[in-house]
Amino acid sequence: KAIEFNPDNSVKGFRLTGADGKPGPLVEADVYVSAMPVDIMKLMCPDPWRQMPFFSQLSELEGIPVINVHLWFDRKLTAPDSLVFSRSPLLSVYADMSSACKEYYSEERSMLELVFAPCSVAAGADRNWIAASDEDIVEATLKELERLFPLEIAADGSMAKLRKFAVVKTPRSVYAAIPGRNKFRPSQETPVGNFVLAGDYTSQKFLGSMEGAVLSGKLAAEVIADRAAGHPTQGVKAVHPSVASAESVVAA
Ligand SMILES: Cc1cc2nc3c(=O)[nH]c(=O)nc-3n(C[C@H](O)[C@H](O)[C@H](O)COP(=O)(O)OP(=O)(O)OC[C@H]3O[C@@H](n4cnc5c(N)ncnc54)[C@H](O)[C@@H]3O)c2cc1C
Repeated sequence: KAIEFNPDNSVKGFRLTGADGKPGPLVEADVYVSAMPVDIMKLMCPDPWRQMPFFSQLSELEGIPVINVHLWFDRKLTAPDSLVFSRSPLLSVYADMSSACKEYYSEERSMLELVFAPCSVAAGADRNWIAASDEDIVEATLKELERLFPLEIAADGSMAKLRKFAVVKTPRSVYAAIPGRNKFRPSQETPVGNFVLAGDYTSQKFLGSMEGAVLSGKLAAEVIADRAAGHPTQGVKAVHPSVASAESVVAA
């Protein structure tokens, strides 16, 4: 629910939310790690931290919307047993989970999971798909699938029949990797002595991705282990001068 802090700005504890939605217990520890997405971290940032360029640079990183579409068909499609990068402008990647994933395995019926993106005008889509109805999103997906599976799927349902569907909208997903963002990605080590960041948006060699998330966790653990062992750390990544100078203009 909140990051509570001491007068010296170090973390006092993480306040949890009680089952009734009211403030719950305060969790206290030697070191605190945030693995929250960047947009949530911005919201949870204690007010005094917002004045620090290290945390205010997070405003340069913003999650993009993504939609995940799940389609259950009445027959097996001839889709490869792997994740496929699609040539459709609306469907970035998809997989036939009935082949690629043990939990959905079936020799009779396909279950496609598709990433519907870009889905906002800012990200390059023709409309704001996040605001569209699930039915409109499925209809647009089937039109694209008609082109990808011309012998098996027709948008009018005359070939493979759709048994059921699910649409999952994520309004803030990975940070938008538009040009110039990398310099604003914060190090795992922060200026707050007992607070460390993890998450795909933090500074490491991968973009926002599963690999980036895992590597960021390892780097966060390294900061904590090095400090505990009294070893030198990599240090806090310098904040780009444009953040600091923008702040001094606001302050003036
Ligand atoms: C539809 C979709 C498809 C994707 N496909 C791929 C792909 O094919 N390959 C790939 O590499 N990446 C893919 N990604 C991106 C990948 O999922 C992310 O890069 C990765 O999950 C980021 O990991 P993370 O640990 O940084 O953050 P997250 O996985 O977002 O974890 C953040 C955690 O913080 C928690 N949290 C949120 N608010 C709070 C709070 N107030 N207090 C405490 N906890 C909180 C959340 O519940 C969540 O568990 C996809 C993402 C989406 C949405």
